[in-house]
Amino acid sequence: MKILVINCGSSSLKFQLIDSESEQVICKGLCERIGIDGSRIVYTPEGKDKITVETPMPDHNKAIELVIEALTNKENGVVASLDEIGAVGHRIVHGGEKFTESVVINDEVIKAIEDVSDLAPLHNPANLIGIKACMNAMPGVPMVAVFDTAFHQTMPENAYLYGLHYSYYEKYGIRRYGFHGTSHSYVSKRAAEILGKDIKDLKLIVCHLGNGASVSAVKGGKCIDTSMGLTPLEGLIMGTRTGDIDPSVVEFIMKKENLSVAEVNNILNKKSGVFGLSNELSSDFRDLEDGYLSGNEGAKRAVDTFAYRVVKYIGAYTAAMGGVDAICFTAGVGENSGFTRKIIIDGLGFIGASLNEEANTVRGKEEIISNPDSKVTLMVVPTNEELAIARDTYALCK
Ligand code: ADP
Repeated sequence: MKILVINCGSSSLKFQLIDSESEQVICKGLCERIGIDGSRIVYTPEGKDKITVETPMPDHNKAIELVIEALTNKENGVVASLDEIGAVGHRIVHGGEKFTESVVINDEVIKAIEDVSDLAPLHNPANLIGIKACMNAMPGVPMVAVFDTAFHQTMPENAYLYGLHYSYYEKYGIRRYGFHGTSHSYVSKRAAEILGKDIKDLKLIVCHLGNGASVSAVKGGKCIDTSMGLTPLEGLIMGTRTGDIDPSVVEFIMKKENLSVAEVNNILNKKSGVFGLSNELSSDFRDLEDGYLSGNEGAKRAVDTFAYRVVKYIGAYTAAMGGVDAICFTAGVGENSGFTRKIIIDGLGFIGASLNEEANTVRGKEEIISNPDSKVTLMVVPTNEELAIARDTYALCK
């Protein structure tokens, strides 16, 4: 069966067509600047060069129309007709407490996703627009919702509660939910396969280090803690997000600089993280690595502070699980930057981590990067959220 995977943002739509048997990507692409001037679709059919079509895209319905045209057109298309697409899997950012696993989308599911939209006001409405646009374009094709939060729903109460008055949890569901769940789930399962062990017997820490970054503690295959919270702002220092911060900072900056809540929120989400710490040198770790090596103080400050926070979380999760068997690095930085991995791992002597520097030069490939005598296995496990979504979709629709 061919599965269309859709990841819909407010002005963008990423897609992949995946064959569920071979698990090969048949076509992948991106619609950019939906609803804005200068919109375009960029896609790569399997075995062909990248194709870019600049064309007006006033809304997501038009974007989906163009995706279907790209998949089916005579010249570069990859399927003869839409009938070949057996199901669609949608990435949904927030499933609240309602969704602990992926589900087939029906009216009730749509309503439930709408109901938790105030927990992810930028993401869930965009995800819903993507679902509705696909339903219009492909009536009768089954659709599945795969939630970023679902994998973390196994966290115990003492990990997901904030030290807030309990009534806020009861009234508004204010608690820690966690994100990147599809990636943490995929990487932890894959790590167990690579290690040749039953995941039930493993204590794993997954470091998803991309533009957005989070760590999770996976004990016996279940997430018992993760670093993101009510929103993806909590936890690690990220590309442009602060991660953990004293909440009083918000009021302090508001008063000092005469800013509104929205303006401070923008600072915490878009102007902070390694971008802010490096004095706006870059949020891209490739630039920061270059800067670090050429003696740029801001780059060094940003990367060292980022790495220290990762080390602290690894320490905390080792304590939470009563030990750790393997630490997995994934996503853009985790998969590709041996430089940043080494700075992190240099802080892990307390658990007997020993890095094999030659293996650590790996980029974007599965690899064990610890020495045989290391007390904890260190590994690079590239994530594949689209494949994980396609697998769940197939499992529910075959
Ligand atoms: P997201 O999906 O959250 O946007 P990604 O997982 O794609 O993020 O990761 C993006 C980050 O990965 C960027 O900061 C980028 O610099 C970093 N990255 C990608 N390739 C490399 C590399 N070769 N060396 C260092 N960092 C890299």
